Amino acid sequence: MSRFLNHKYAGLTAYTPGEQPRDRQYIKLNTNESPYPPSPAVLSALEEADVAALRLYSDPEGTSLREKLAGLYGVESGQVFLSNGSDDILNFAFMAFGSDGAVFPSLTYSFYPVFANLHGVPYETVPLREDFSVDAAILAGQGKLTVLANPNAPTGVALSLEQVESVVAADPNHVVVVDEAYVDFGAQSAVTLLEKYDNLLVVMTFSKSRSMAGARLGFALGSRDLIQDLEKLKYATNPYNVNRLTLKLGEAAVDSNEYFRENARRIMATRSETAQRLRDLGFSMPDSQANFLFLTHPGLDGEVLYQKCKSRGILIRHFSDPAIAGYNRVTIGTETEMAAFVQEAEEILREEGL
Ligand SMILES: *Cc1c(COP(=O)(O)O)cnc(C)c1O
Repeated sequence: MSRFLNHKYAGLTAYTPGEQPRDRQYIKLNTNESPYPPSPAVLSALEEADVAALRLYSDPEGTSLREKLAGLYGVESGQVFLSNGSDDILNFAFMAFGSDGAVFPSLTYSFYPVFANLHGVPYETVPLREDFSVDAAILAGQGKLTVLANPNAPTGVALSLEQVESVVAADPNHVVVVDEAYVDFGAQSAVTLLEKYDNLLVVMTFSKSRSMAGARLGFALGSRDLIQDLEKLKYATNPYNVNRLTLKLGEAAVDSNEYFRENARRIMATRSETAQRLRDLGFSMPDSQANFLFLTHPGLDGEVLYQKCKSRGILIRHFSDPAIAGYNRVTIGTETEMAAFVQEAEEILREEGL
């Protein structure tokens, strides 16, 4: 730290992204990317892109992409906010709506407490149930900005639409952010609640189901007023937050919606097959509605599984939080990649005498 850093950031602990090592070719099951490429329509949009036009700023309103997303989700374009990855929206949400503090589950996306600390928003956490489900009754009505990842990360467990609605309905005077980064892998979206509740902000991303993590594109759907609040913060920080190419590729991705739905179905099928094989080996995990499994094995240290997989060329995600030291989060890759993971896991168990 230099002596110049504003002292209010001196104690800030930043988010730790999943590792992206370059020392060798890994089967990468650690950051929940899609194993499949973006749609052919996205690839041809890139080939046809007018690179010379990069000299011009992007449309700060992202008008065409917003209209397409509005059409897809049955809202108006004034209810759509675009961002450079959905992490940007979560950042703005804590900045904008946290004046009475924030609340989120004790085990969830580890970026939430970072944003809260960054913006000086005091927060509380509510414990998960034994089975890792979020207790909607405790989360509801806390009188604060409420942030709920549904399905939750890193567990993959989802709440039903009724449970999400109970949280949104409990406190009309505070914003409820439903982070739906993984919603396309089997959970119910809260988008249908938007016509009833003006305190709901649904946050989505092109990073997971749409295979575009590297393009950095996220969006939020909410009431016109909430979206205007986010726009205000955007225009106060980075008006051209989504670049020209990404806007174009995003439009092509929305036009080829069926392509990514099909990929999501494949990933869900691979997920259930992989979960079954791992359970046969003695692993246990909650039922996942996301593109990853949160697994543990009695007698096998989580860190050991992580290290041994890494030395065999498979990256999975292990977290430093001692409460989940026995667990790893494993992204669902292709069928071949998952077969390789299951096979290595079986050999590791044998080596460990389990
Ligand atoms: C991956 C993820 C995001 C966002 O990622 P972006 O790439 O910034 O869109 C948001 N929330 C959760 C829970 C995630 O896992």
